[in-house]
Amino acid sequence: MAGDHFFLELEPPEERLRDVPHVVIVGGGFAGIHACKALAKADVRITLIDKRNFNLFQPLLYQVSTGLVSRGDIATPLRELVGKQRNVQVLLGEVTDVHPEGKQIVFNGKAYSYDHLVLATGSGSTFFGHDDWRTFAPPMKILEHAEEIRRRLLMAMEQAEQTPDPSARQFLQTVVIVGAGPSGCEMAGAVSELMRWALNNAFKQLDPNKTRIVLVDPGERVLRAMPAQQSEAALASLERDGIEFMAQSRVQTMGPGEVIIGTPDGDRRIQAATVIWTAGVRPSHLGSKLAEATGCALDKGGRVVVQHDFSIPEHPEIRVAGDLSNYSHTINGKPMPGMAAPAKQAGTFIGKDIAAIVANRSCPTFNYFDFGSMAVLDRATAVADLRGLRFSGGVGWLLWAFVHLVLIPDWENRITLSVKWIFALLTQQRSAILLTGMPSQHMALDAVDAHFPMKAGEGVSIAEPDAALKAAMDYYSHQMSRPPLSGQPPTQELLDTSDGSAADSAAAIK
Ligand SMILES: Cc1cc2nc3c(=O)[nH]c(=O)nc-3n(C[C@H](O)[C@H](O)[C@H](O)COP(=O)(O)OP(=O)(O)OC[C@H]3O[C@@H](n4cnc5c(N)ncnc54)[C@H](O)[C@@H]3O)c2cc1C
Repeated sequence: MAGDHFFLELEPPEERLRDVPHVVIVGGGFAGIHACKALAKADVRITLIDKRNFNLFQPLLYQVSTGLVSRGDIATPLRELVGKQRNVQVLLGEVTDVHPEGKQIVFNGKAYSYDHLVLATGSGSTFFGHDDWRTFAPPMKILEHAEEIRRRLLMAMEQAEQTPDPSARQFLQTVVIVGAGPSGCEMAGAVSELMRWALNNAFKQLDPNKTRIVLVDPGERVLRAMPAQQSEAALASLERDGIEFMAQSRVQTMGPGEVIIGTPDGDRRIQAATVIWTAGVRPSHLGSKLAEATGCALDKGGRVVVQHDFSIPEHPEIRVAGDLSNYSHTINGKPMPGMAAPAKQAGTFIGKDIAAIVANRSCPTFNYFDFGSMAVLDRATAVADLRGLRFSGGVGWLLWAFVHLVLIPDWENRITLSVKWIFALLTQQRSAILLTGMPSQHMALDAVDAHFPMKAGEGVSIAEPDAALKAAMDYYSHQMSRPPLSGQPPTQELLDTSDGSAADSAAAIK
């Protein structure tokens, strides 16, 4: 804690911050932002580092995927959120390593010093060892994933509109969603609304009733973390929206345009133009880096096991919060769930605790308050279990909307989202369904001399099917030239696995 500990060797914003302790917060998600805010009045200088320049409200990613809201409605620039705080400097870049013995982090390839370190780098998606499935079934963790899912859904619908063959249209209108936790159920409900109602009449050839949405999960019920009563209400709502739930079913393998699913009745092949993955999360790799460097324990999912104040053994100056941590010093001894509200509580506590240490005050104690859980099922229905108080239907939705508006970190997005939700409630309309290309596809073009379909150099045309959809359709055409198995609908066949044609069962998702 000396004069050489500047903001990552840059000048501090105020002279009087030159010799105060340096707090490095890695990750500007729920935990990082709230740690930062809780340190607003403390005599510290804070460097907040994130590899994105915005805070992402992940719980609403599914609304971007289904065109209800736009990317800016669920993301807030970090400089807007905390950049103006007098003791904070926000830096864009990736922290790749931690050297606890020298109290240093490695950022953009250089080592920098800290006095207190808060690691809040969250989690990513996992395909449980089947990373090749990523191309066929995008996960939903970052904005780009949500936009890719939206692009695939919309491109399939555009393609179906120009496809004369009814069975090919059925293929294009089939969506498989893997995972029936909150994200999978929310996605299924929203996809159903988009394909059945929101764009009804806007596509002249599509029959909304031909939309097929299949939700696949190894469990016996949807929303397994919720009480049975809530999960029954959720399933009833999803079924009303025409969603098929395949319980006790695991993905065995997938390829372009098809998923092979192991069910209690044998393996099934579902042919679907769009497949979405919501099945697994894995903590940020900085957890294992920290464990290698300090010997701290990781749980079996790879999260850092933390002490009662979120520090790790023998390193009171290192705290780990949010999805990256396993905090089990709770009343029932169960780890805090990987959700927004616990991450926010952890971040706020850590900020206050560091402020107390720096000011030589007595430290606060952390008491986790479990608000419960909820999941939204369509634009006016949700289920919620709030500390034993259970709600479903419209009341559940009002609660869901209120809680999410409170959690959203900025007022502009709160207001925009409220207006868009009310509008969707009244009209079913979606405005965020623009199909645009990647910048590389049309950087050289302007509106007057652009050809149709727009094409720049070797880039893919915006009006042509994307590579994923094209591969799915090629697969489908090839399959159609083979005789179908008797008695099965064209997009779902019961497979005879005795010849080993379906994928190896050992490859099932664990
Ligand atoms: C689809 C989806 C739906 C969800 N729905 C809900 C819900 O309805 N309710 C709920 O409570 N929770 C929900 N969650 C969970 C919730 O979003 C997370 O628990 C919460 O975001 C965790 O906060 P965090 O601060 O730990 O991490 P995050 O919010 O993920 O933030 C981590 C930050 O760290 C940055 N980062 C990562 N690695 C590095 C690095 N090496 N260097 C620099 N920066 C880095 C990232 O860019 C990111 O900004 C949902 C999550 C998803 C994916």
